[in-house]
Amino acid sequence: MVPYFPLQRVNALFGNELLEAMERVLKSGRFIRGGEVERFETEFAKFCGAGFCVGVGNGLEALSVMLKSYVELGRIKPGSEVVVPSNTFIATWLAVKLAGLVPVAAEPELGTSLVSRASVSKVLTEHTSAVLAVHLYGRVAPMDDLKALLAGSGILLLEDAAQAHGASLAGTRAGALGDAAGFSFYPGKNLGALGDAGALVTSDAELAEVARRLANYGSSKKYVHDLAGENSRLDELQAAVLAVKLNRLEEHNLRRAEIASRYLAGIKNPLLRLPEAGEPGEHVWHIFAVHSKHRDALKAHFENSGIETLIHYPKPPHLQKAFATFPQKDLPIAEALALETLSLPIHPAMTDTEIEAVIGAANSFEAP
Ligand SMILES: *Cc1c(COP(=O)(O)O)cnc(C)c1O
Repeated sequence: MVPYFPLQRVNALFGNELLEAMERVLKSGRFIRGGEVERFETEFAKFCGAGFCVGVGNGLEALSVMLKSYVELGRIKPGSEVVVPSNTFIATWLAVKLAGLVPVAAEPELGTSLVSRASVSKVLTEHTSAVLAVHLYGRVAPMDDLKALLAGSGILLLEDAAQAHGASLAGTRAGALGDAAGFSFYPGKNLGALGDAGALVTSDAELAEVARRLANYGSSKKYVHDLAGENSRLDELQAAVLAVKLNRLEEHNLRRAEIASRYLAGIKNPLLRLPEAGEPGEHVWHIFAVHSKHRDALKAHFENSGIETLIHYPKPPHLQKAFATFPQKDLPIAEALALETLSLPIHPAMTDTEIEAVIGAANSFEAP
């Protein structure tokens, strides 16, 4: 069996380092807001090429705290519109709602599964306060085009970088490509903790300061509360684990890219549409998504060949009950992609035999 993402094997790549980091925290007796969080925040901000990193509880809260902080600062109007992709994980939309804002969907391009300048420009209104671009599957959204579109408009350009740790556009990494970015360190992400974790990254000192307070009971000093905040903190254990994993993120992203190249060169089956790599560095291959008109039969074929695949995502947010009253009903590209997409195994612990098995199964698929 070729598993989709065997977390034990991926974590075993770090040998004893994870246990040693956890033991250090255990012995310190400090589990919240000690030196580990600060150290990781400094290292991750530097890695991204941004001024500040604020560790939070998870990726959803990284995005919602980011938006709430802008509202708090008066730089996003309460109830205003935030443009999000129609084909993202629902957390992107939920974050907008949690911040008291209104999601407006922009359709992706069929080829890249990413929004484009044209699709975003179609849904901008006088009420738009921000565009929250998603680097879906690990490939950066066309941030330079979006920046050009929004120049002089006062509309913020934000990143949902939950799938794109280390991805870059012309040498600038995710986290430094817009005004602010939210990251998830969910265990299955390219940089994953051993539980829930996330971070907001920005070079805006004022935003970072408000976010840090909002995520810590609205407090910058113990028992002094200026804001009605929440509790969304990165903890010492996760920060220590993340610091170990960050050391090898680039190496592991390169291994993912190597596997992706082998898939792109080896899979030759007209029934599968393969993803585009973009320019070097643009894609960190969190997910290798192929598309097929015969997706369900293809999934069954992989399963019969002993290969586990997943679907990201089977139903777009606007068709979920949670967004039953969402006014945009006509989002055909998101709906088509949801029916055709299939994610093949890709992770840094994959063996050559496993890679060959995936390629072989993809090439032996016949139309049902
Ligand atoms: C994983 C993910 C999130 C949410 O992160 P959590 O840590 O699971 O809350 C948000 N957006 C995208 C695109 C994601 O893939």
